[in-house]
Amino acid sequence: MNATVKERAQQNVPGKSGMAGGAINPHAVAMRQFDIAADKLNLEEGVREKLKIPRRCMTVAIPVKMDNGKVKVFIGHRVQHNISRGPAKGGIRYHPNVTLDEVKALATWMTWKCAVVNLPFGGGKGGITCDPKNMSQGELERMTRRFVHEISPIIGPDQDIPAPDVYTNSQTMAWIMDTYSQLKGYTVLGVVTGKPIELGGSLGRDKATAQGCHYTIMGAAKHLKINVKGLKVAVQGFGNAGSHMATIIHNAGAIVIAVSDSKGGILNTKGLNPFEALKHKEKTGSVVGLKGTDRITNEELLEIKCDVLVPAALEGVITKENADKINARILAEAANGPTTPEADDIFYDKGIFVIPDILANAGGVTVSYLEWVQNIERLRWTEEDVNKHLKTHMDTAFEDVLDTHLKNKVHMRTAANMLAIGRVAEASRLRGLYP
Ligand code: NAD
Repeated sequence: MNATVKERAQQNVPGKSGMAGGAINPHAVAMRQFDIAADKLNLEEGVREKLKIPRRCMTVAIPVKMDNGKVKVFIGHRVQHNISRGPAKGGIRYHPNVTLDEVKALATWMTWKCAVVNLPFGGGKGGITCDPKNMSQGELERMTRRFVHEISPIIGPDQDIPAPDVYTNSQTMAWIMDTYSQLKGYTVLGVVTGKPIELGGSLGRDKATAQGCHYTIMGAAKHLKINVKGLKVAVQGFGNAGSHMATIIHNAGAIVIAVSDSKGGILNTKGLNPFEALKHKEKTGSVVGLKGTDRITNEELLEIKCDVLVPAALEGVITKENADKINARILAEAANGPTTPEADDIFYDKGIFVIPDILANAGGVTVSYLEWVQNIERLRWTEEDVNKHLKTHMDTAFEDVLDTHLKNKVHMRTAANMLAIGRVAEASRLRGLYP
């Protein structure tokens, strides 16, 4: 039986829109956020329209021979939202709830994210509606390769550079790189980032999103004059972004009290060891059941009293329904689009310091940029070099957004959007229209 919208929201199970509750359209959220910042910037009508509508959306059918011998056709999308500042850049997501509107929203956020950390990239995103947890490696490989074949005319190191996102990883990126290279007849490392180290991946890429998010939390703690040692932290989602986030902040002296994955959450108000949670997840498939912890739901995790709450799973989990119950001082959005505009208003009134997604999780795309630079220059940097560049980008972006927030007395999200949209608008104006 299908869960109702309310039940889905209560369980944090994404609905048709790819969002918990299923009632919120992520593209509508992205457009609402855009309008708020564009109004503050007094953006002229023509530029406003150009920045709202994605430049190109490609939807493809992907026939795949499944292990049982039958052919199944999947639907995939690649959206290039804006390329005024450089090639489109953004991940590829495999999830049952992927829709074109979700991909358009994620591509739009990528444009602003690249601009907020001042990378010479535009924004793109891709996704395939599929259930990767119930597919074999062979099926995933065949689906990935056919998808790359279909979108190959519009991707490339100077055009559009994909990367990992939810339920895709370095192996997926290796298949993308190999398929594109086979089509070209020579090896093109720079077509995709987040590759294995042995295939031109960058040191530090796997932890980059979490490491960057950590730098922004340090910036927020400094601004709010709170000590990192002993900060109580809750993390929703225990994949690439969430698990690294938990271990990095644990190593910095904070106390991780709760983590979760799609099967549920765990809590120990005195602190839990995220490295043990990782081992437990590797062994059992979930963090649930870790010794010395109590089981909680994903919804309860969001409402726990803590200093730092890190949503690191899917979008749309914090809405006007539960924003009032959030009990954190800092909300650091490792996930893309976890908070709706109505929830933002509630946080602003409550004085919760929000580090918005396009800033908080920009570490991933920043190290992707560094990987692309190493690939096209045929160089290999040390992890120390990579982290030095990452820290500089993140600290500068945090200071720029904080400055805009304080000067204009707007939400941190609106400040980040004002900065980013202002940069993209200026690039667009300078380029003018062709023909
Ligand atoms: P991932 O696939 O590695 O992990 C996703 C995690 O979320 C898993 O632990 C999964 O169990 C959990 N999850 C899935 N559905 C859930 C639900 N309904 N409730 C709670 N948990 C659930 O993905 P990731 O790469 O870590 O991405 C997580 C978020 O971070 C996404 O919003 C993604 O767009 C964003 N992000 C990731 C990167 C990156 O470099 N990986 C960069 C920027 C933003």
